[in-house]
Amino acid sequence: MAATALPGNPDVSAFIQGINDKYLEVHRAYEDNFWATKMALSGASTSALSSTKNALDEFLSSQDRLRAVCDAEARPDLSPEQLRVLAVLRRTFATYVSEEESVATLRARLNDLEAELAGVRNRMRLGTTDPATGEFRPASSVQLRNAMRMSGEESARRAAYDALRSIGPAIAGPFAAIVRLRNELARRAGFPNYYEMKVQAAEGFTQARLFQMLDGLESATRQLATDARARLAAAKGEDSLKPWNISNALAGDIETRMDPYFPFENAVDVWARTFAALGIDYRGSTMRLDLCDRPGKYSNGFCHWPVPAYRKVDGAWVPAQTNFTSLATPGSVGSGKTALVTLLHEGGHAAHFANVDQASPLCSQERAPTSVAYAENQSMLLDSLAGDAAWLARYARDAAGQPVPWSLVREAIEAGHPYAAFSVRSMLAVPYFEKALYDLPDDQITPERILSLADEVEARVEGGPAPRPLLSVPHILSDESSAYYHGYVLAEMGVHQARAHFLKTLGRIVDEPEVGAALTRVYWQPGNSVPFLDLVERLTEAPLTADAWVKELQVPVEVKVAEEEVAYREALEAGPRIPPGSPVDLNMRILLVHGDETVADTEVEGSLPAACAKYTAWLANKGT
Ligand SMILES: [Zn+2]
Repeated sequence: MAATALPGNPDVSAFIQGINDKYLEVHRAYEDNFWATKMALSGASTSALSSTKNALDEFLSSQDRLRAVCDAEARPDLSPEQLRVLAVLRRTFATYVSEEESVATLRARLNDLEAELAGVRNRMRLGTTDPATGEFRPASSVQLRNAMRMSGEESARRAAYDALRSIGPAIAGPFAAIVRLRNELARRAGFPNYYEMKVQAAEGFTQARLFQMLDGLESATRQLATDARARLAAAKGEDSLKPWNISNALAGDIETRMDPYFPFENAVDVWARTFAALGIDYRGSTMRLDLCDRPGKYSNGFCHWPVPAYRKVDGAWVPAQTNFTSLATPGSVGSGKTALVTLLHEGGHAAHFANVDQASPLCSQERAPTSVAYAENQSMLLDSLAGDAAWLARYARDAAGQPVPWSLVREAIEAGHPYAAFSVRSMLAVPYFEKALYDLPDDQITPERILSLADEVEARVEGGPAPRPLLSVPHILSDESSAYYHGYVLAEMGVHQARAHFLKTLGRIVDEPEVGAALTRVYWQPGNSVPFLDLVERLTEAPLTADAWVKELQVPVEVKVAEEEVAYREALEAGPRIPPGSPVDLNMRILLVHGDETVADTEVEGSLPAACAKYTAWLANKGT
């Protein structure tokens, strides 16, 4: 869309802008409180979060507003551009509007219960007790999972697992009440249960269609996963399959030896150069990054938009404002890699939403009717680069600038590829659990049943108790991220299909500006005005299936090693398109913050390298 006013009937354009202005007001109020509570900022208030959430829900679920949009759509003198925006507004409001007055009361009750549950979860004293000294060491769920992966002591891994398992019993009571209420809400809105309602709202197709796709992937990977378990037991002993041992057995010491090639303090620069070399432009956005973990901080990385990008009806561009968090513990092994992958992932979401160019912020906000799969497809495609030899040879460099050696990349492939089905099954377990949960009749939705159901699904899908206990997955708790995890699975299908398409048509992905251009043009500009499945087909010229993913999993490890060695050699020869230390222009202001503290700001420091240097100095000072 060019930088001109929205064509068509001027009264309708004014009507659209009126909705845009009001939406941004309630959206922003809620998002500011969301950030404040999740980051545990001073003055953060769960009651303000709950009241602004109610105001946002009220705005979105107004019957009158939906009717006004439908009336506008019926006018004879509209431009195609106006029709497209009005259709998004109608779909958005139709997602939230319910005929019954009592539903609003239910929603408000649910918001309160969820705020209480979030409080229970935040106040949990998670951590492990040192067996030698009896001293309790607090640790977030992310740190506990890291400990299971990295600790050489089985007793320490066991303690970390037990701590993760303790989340389930602590939340099951309040969670059961929420699940029952969610189902009641869905039934009043005319759906058999909450999962069905969420899928139809967020994806635009039914739960049956969704599970048809998931079942296909499940059956195609079942034997691969069984074989992988047998292989691991044969290689490292039966005990390696215990939930507190499996991540460690898989990680071996590769991660430790890879660690020097992912210096935490370089993560922001590496991410920025990777994206700039792909031709990604943030179009004047502002991004606030809170990278480091600390007590009380929400235990999952995320990216939200207090201001979604859009083009006003008069043609003026409104750039995005983004809040972005990760849970890095600088200094601990693996923290640099985690930070980098999170930057590629959340920064991928930000790149996507910064480039939606439609005449309403409702086209570029991340909630329904924006498809979860559509959103995650963008971020997961971009974070997948960190596993490519073509990327590693260019960007994974130690503090002295030495690239990661091929021998290490090869070992990583040999250690990871034969077990890749595990992560597929771990992803699949969440939607299978949530489906079973919301399928339960009301009288069976009890804390005890929730706990046993989680165990059953872990056994059925993952082959035994899971290293990431299902009830420790934060997504299942809050309204906005519950019954949503399947989106990651569909997105991963889309990622493999798009990667296969780019490799076939362009010959490469890393450092290829045509990749960023194609993503911007086909995937990003339309926002939620085009369904995800249609966008995948537009880009890849084929309907979405798990085929490309399954094919990738079935590649014998020797073949995979041979292919990646060629990619590694070529990439090492070529070097990164934007060398370390060169200026990078992402067309974005970046603020590096830590809770209430603004550590560095590109606008104040003058450039991204200068802001990164200030941040690095702050990290050193922080004593981690
Ligand atoms: Zn994401």
